[in-house]
Amino acid sequence: MYEQLKGKSQVEQIEIIARDLVATISVNGTDGEVTIADKIFDILSSFPYFKANPTNLWTSQLSGDALGRKNVFAFLTVADTHKTVIYHSHMDTVGIEDYGAIAELAGDSDALCAYFSTFSEDPEVQADAQSGDYLFGRGMLDMKSGVAVNLVNILYFSEHMDVLPGNLFLSVNPVEENDHTGIIEATHEIKQLQSKGYEFVTAINTDFVSPLYKGDQTRYVYTGAAGKILPCFYIKGRETHVGSTLQGIDPTLISSAINIEINTNLDLCESIFDEEIVPSSALLQRDCKDFYNVQTAKTAQLYFNTFLYEQSAKQVLAKFANVAQSAITSVCDNYKLRLSRYQTSIGISTETDIKVDFYRFSQYCQYLDDKGYDSQALIADFINEQGALDRRQAGFDLINYLELKTGEDTPKVILFLAPPFCPHNFIDEDSRVNQVLDTVLADFSDTETFKKRRFFPYLSDSSYLAMRETADEIKDMLTDFPMSDTIYPVPFDTIRSLAIPAIDLGVYGKGAHTWKERLYKPYSYGVLPELIRSFTKRMLEGEKQA
Ligand SMILES: [Zn+2]
Repeated sequence: MYEQLKGKSQVEQIEIIARDLVATISVNGTDGEVTIADKIFDILSSFPYFKANPTNLWTSQLSGDALGRKNVFAFLTVADTHKTVIYHSHMDTVGIEDYGAIAELAGDSDALCAYFSTFSEDPEVQADAQSGDYLFGRGMLDMKSGVAVNLVNILYFSEHMDVLPGNLFLSVNPVEENDHTGIIEATHEIKQLQSKGYEFVTAINTDFVSPLYKGDQTRYVYTGAAGKILPCFYIKGRETHVGSTLQGIDPTLISSAINIEINTNLDLCESIFDEEIVPSSALLQRDCKDFYNVQTAKTAQLYFNTFLYEQSAKQVLAKFANVAQSAITSVCDNYKLRLSRYQTSIGISTETDIKVDFYRFSQYCQYLDDKGYDSQALIADFINEQGALDRRQAGFDLINYLELKTGEDTPKVILFLAPPFCPHNFIDEDSRVNQVLDTVLADFSDTETFKKRRFFPYLSDSSYLAMRETADEIKDMLTDFPMSDTIYPVPFDTIRSLAIPAIDLGVYGKGAHTWKERLYKPYSYGVLPELIRSFTKRMLEGEKQA
């Protein structure tokens, strides 16, 4: 690859690499993630610096990963300082199903550009395609162009070591689009370097940023990452024949009531001035019937994507518990009214118990223990008996198992957490990173309009480089996170001790996670790489003088 890049301009170099990476489809959860890691390793290994210093470039396979996915690391080292800046980016993408009939073009920017040039259904994407300023394709924006920017900046500094006042560590990671296990494993590598004396002054993620409204030209810069939890509701009702429907308790009614209260509800959000605070979304809602019959459902499952900004998981779960309890009460009250009306209409009166208990997972375990069972021993049995566990399904299956083993059959709702959990972090106003960033953004403000915000809104690997949660808050959260050690072991103490100020200086474009995904070249390949280099140098220079 180096032979192709040699003598080309920065913009051309980035475009060559980005097109090459996009042509290699690397959908999350496929072996394309391994192929792309090999490709990135090959590109880097063609650089003269890594030919001369082959031990400064390495891969590390994720432990226990069935696909054999791996992180790619590269290190530019300077002799007399341990100060280090991290560049990181993810190499996986979401699927290509959204391209529909033209899915085979998902890796071909030119073909897509030609297609959208005549696509009059969406005048904005058509105009962008005709402008010549945009590149198309799955991952072009999210975020293979960000990988390409990092690789070209690594190449630049490797050829200009005299202007690099400290060390540069590159981490390119798989599995960002769902479980973040790439960066989670990379934290061990970073921790090792930290214990050898390296000091990480900042981490720069190049994940994409987008306009917030039509015509928005602002380049958003994020000085932190929103966190995320996945609150799950296990809902058990009482099944019945449809001919006596009011004798049952339909778990889908309870699920719907909870969903209406939580889904997109801004009243449940934190209110933080001038930040993009996004409400919860339901990512799954279903009953658990496998086939048609005339029996109502016995159980239902519901879970939400919920962001964390300044609040802790504990505070958000407490809110959700309240909301769920009042939704349950209103469903039960409705049942009682409807039952009484129905009984009056047919002239009978029988007692029907309409009661649904609510527990958080920790309370449910306590409830079982109080009944004389050893909940922790039962959970250990479940893990031993099940073998491989699906991360999202495991909690629901565990509760079914506990219900079965303890002869529990009363209607109930249990609130628990499932993976992933992304810690939230942000840098302080008076921190050096923030001050240097202000200086650098001011330097580039003649041509660009920047806006700094604290919380990257699209979920980010940067979540795992620092965390605001205290050890007590994590301990408390894990009591409602069944089997977290087994299904999602996050090295919380390592992350807390890394405490690397992590910011996002992202490539810019539109339509991420849609088939109209496109990258705006002039800023992403022209301005951004220079801005990152300037920020890198200032962070390392100042530290060296200090
Ligand atoms: Zn991304």
